[in-house]
Amino acid sequence: MINEKMYEYGSKSSVIRELFSYGLERKKVVGEDKVYDFSLGNPSIPAPAEVKQAILELLEEPAEELHGYSPASGDPAVKQELAEAVNRRYGTHFTGDNFYMTVGAAASLNITIQALTNSGDEFIVFAPFFPEYQVWVENAGAVLRICPPNLKDFQMDFAELEKLLNPKTKGIIINSPNNPSGAVYSEETILRLSALLKEKQKEYGTQIYLITDEPYREIVYGGVAVPYVTKYYANTIVCYSYSKSLSLPGERIGYIIVPDEMTESKKVMAAVNGAGRALGYVCAPVLFQKVVAKCTGVTGDISAYERNRELLYNGLTELGYECVQPQGAFYLFVKSPEPDANAFSEKAKKYDVLIVPGDSFGCPGYVRISYCVAEKTIVDAMPAFAKIMEEYRSV
Ligand code: PLP
Repeated sequence: MINEKMYEYGSKSSVIRELFSYGLERKKVVGEDKVYDFSLGNPSIPAPAEVKQAILELLEEPAEELHGYSPASGDPAVKQELAEAVNRRYGTHFTGDNFYMTVGAAASLNITIQALTNSGDEFIVFAPFFPEYQVWVENAGAVLRICPPNLKDFQMDFAELEKLLNPKTKGIIINSPNNPSGAVYSEETILRLSALLKEKQKEYGTQIYLITDEPYREIVYGGVAVPYVTKYYANTIVCYSYSKSLSLPGERIGYIIVPDEMTESKKVMAAVNGAGRALGYVCAPVLFQKVVAKCTGVTGDISAYERNRELLYNGLTELGYECVQPQGAFYLFVKSPEPDANAFSEKAKKYDVLIVPGDSFGCPGYVRISYCVAEKTIVDAMPAFAKIMEEYRSV
């Protein structure tokens, strides 16, 4: 008898992947440029030139060092370099010992959740949320509690959050800039959240960890600030990745930060190491640990995303679609013109427009449109979006 839960995870492919695969097949039939695929969050801008330069330089290093194991938590020199870069940028006081290198944000989150969980613990997420949280939380033996969306601006709904907090709450997972809403939590929101969690920790006599999932931290528009959460709340664990900021999703590189200010910080870091070990991660890719250490302060040229955001937001709102203008990441979260977003997505598919229903993000009635695509895809898709809206208007 195999593990039924694993079978379920492995055989039920995600809606996003299904749409993407459908798009690939459809392109073979109607042509590459006739399918407008907005399904995936795969960065469309190239990794910055500094990345290539760093790789070339590193290839001159002794191969046995470059391709050998590093300590499980990462190369100490790399971690120190990254800590200093974060300190310079955000005025924090980390050292390399606060860092644990991972294979991207997915591993950062999986390890963190596993490190904190005892059976029956609860984690709270805010809808809309990244669907894999459900898998990692469930797999760790915890329960996922979903805070309903604040449809006005996708900031947190504190009245709803208060209803969910209880002595079993082990952690809250936040993601800002957000996939899929594009919202960036303001300083006011983070301050309010911190105050509430501090109060609840005192009331329950427990630790409530704030897990901040930050692969989109650098992808923001119009100079909007993304508060550095460890400065507001001591029990914060940062889950970072270079997948989006350096367009390196295939290289699998990121980190976890456990700050010294956290209650029993050393014990939490030991549990992080333990979870990484139990999950069999061994160590993050050593070449790319060294690459990111050489590329501190570097980000891809996000001006293409910014142009896409303008084009899509202006184009769709002029056609009568409703959405909140995203402040970051590269997704537009659009209200479905009919209550069932799956039906809307199916209708769009008839026009070879591939958009993801919000149901899998815990937010029915909305669709996610990824704009990490070529500008031409957006321009060419607009007549199709217009026809879809006409269909709705004519009934
Ligand atoms: N968290 C969010 C919100 C994401 O959108 C993604 C990837 O799209 C991840 C985590 C996983 O990122 P990584 O590729 O670094 O594992």
